[in-house]
Amino acid sequence: MKEECGVAGIILPGDRPQSNTVAFKLYYALYALQHRGQESTGIMVYDGMSAKSIKGMGLVPDVYNKDSLGRLIGNVGVGHVRYSTTGGSKIENCQPFILNFKGGTVAIAHNGNLVNAKVLKDELECEGRIFISDSDTEVIGHLLVKELIKYEPIESIRNVMRKLVGSYSLVIHVDGILYAVRDPFGFKPLCFGEVDGGYAVVSESVALDTLNGTLIRDVRPGEVIVFDSKGFESHQVGSELHPAHCVFEFIYFARPDSVIDGKLVYKVRENIGRELSREHQVEADVVSPVPDSGITSAIGYARESGTKYLEGLMKNRYIGRTFILPGQEMRETAVRLKMNAIQDNVKGKRVVLVDDSIVRGTTSRRIIDMVRRAGASEIHARVGSPAIIAPCYLGIDMATRQELIASYKTVKEVESLINADSLGYLSIDGLMRALECDKNDMCVGCLTGEYPVEIPGENCRKKQTRLDDFNNPKSF
Ligand code: AMP
Repeated sequence: MKEECGVAGIILPGDRPQSNTVAFKLYYALYALQHRGQESTGIMVYDGMSAKSIKGMGLVPDVYNKDSLGRLIGNVGVGHVRYSTTGGSKIENCQPFILNFKGGTVAIAHNGNLVNAKVLKDELECEGRIFISDSDTEVIGHLLVKELIKYEPIESIRNVMRKLVGSYSLVIHVDGILYAVRDPFGFKPLCFGEVDGGYAVVSESVALDTLNGTLIRDVRPGEVIVFDSKGFESHQVGSELHPAHCVFEFIYFARPDSVIDGKLVYKVRENIGRELSREHQVEADVVSPVPDSGITSAIGYARESGTKYLEGLMKNRYIGRTFILPGQEMRETAVRLKMNAIQDNVKGKRVVLVDDSIVRGTTSRRIIDMVRRAGASEIHARVGSPAIIAPCYLGIDMATRQELIASYKTVKEVESLINADSLGYLSIDGLMRALECDKNDMCVGCLTGEYPVEIPGENCRKKQTRLDDFNNPKSF
């Protein structure tokens, strides 16, 4: 199971009378992170004695209401939005996971995907532990509780981190204290800031903006930060590794107004458009985005090339991402429901159509057909990501290798399949220039088929045996 999710945790000063402020702030934070997960959501708040929670399937505004949130009293809490397309669409998988154990209450919200979840789960089941979900977050929960019975929370989290392989940005609550944890490669984003005299840990900085908070910084790869009502304390677990931040967060997944690992996503996407224009110049009358995900890159492309920016397509704002609808036929209907061409803007024109990525190729084909029917004389597809040739095992729900069109077709073949007059993907080097960083600091597994961690049956980036170092007890 792959988890693309949004997490949030808030702790407010303990000298304040307990109220439902944390619950409402978590609600707004999750609302700002809704793009990271639309399947289910949950909020847990702790009042010093016990945890109360609300969980439900669906969107944030549908799951909570004023009355239910109003009953969640406490100065610390954890929230989650979940996005999963593969099986498991059930309430049991809804997070945060809450576990009561001898002497304490743990709540965990997780964004990421563990590569070794099955092995760990098998071991725990052999010890007699019972699982209620098929999410790997529950595995982390059981491992943590096992440690907490013997050790202090920091020691326990550290011991659990040594067992996990894969991506995990976690917000953990243990008995009134909040912990932010990021895996040693920093695959998925996680940052924290000051909010209302306390602290908030969130997947993306937009959630801090929504709460009128101030971003302090990103949680570093391999870092555990402890927040109590007085302040925060950082613990670097293991030796610091080369990061491997997920490129797809910048290409598609994150909101453009977020700052992730020091980079404004909007700026990266604009740079992507500029790079695309340099790499794949073409004579055209207009540059049009595929809304919404192609907008920022199309702006960059138009600015760099000097071609007029004009919207050739309009999006129905009242439906979610088509990806979440199951089945190919439904997805295709959803594309038509989602998008419509603006005839006057494309008729008789040579159109550069900019989108963020091509995964299966279905969306591009439908959209190009639509723009053609509206009368465009030429359509040049420009894609703000290099060809996606391999699956993601580290937290982006992409597709299987067989479904990834670029894994078995050449650029020319994809061009004809999507019915474009020309097709240009951004190069990996162009993407790195747009990101202003080195390939070795990013996870580019989906673009190269080489992953920073070992994945059975796949190639591992050679110089990344560093996880062995991280997992070496001497480095703790
Ligand atoms: P397709 O090529 O038909 O699979 O659709 C690709 C389009 O779906 C891209 O242009 C994105 O806008 C969007 N997309 C790409 N990756 C994802 C993902 N992991 N989850 C949801 N939507 C995605």
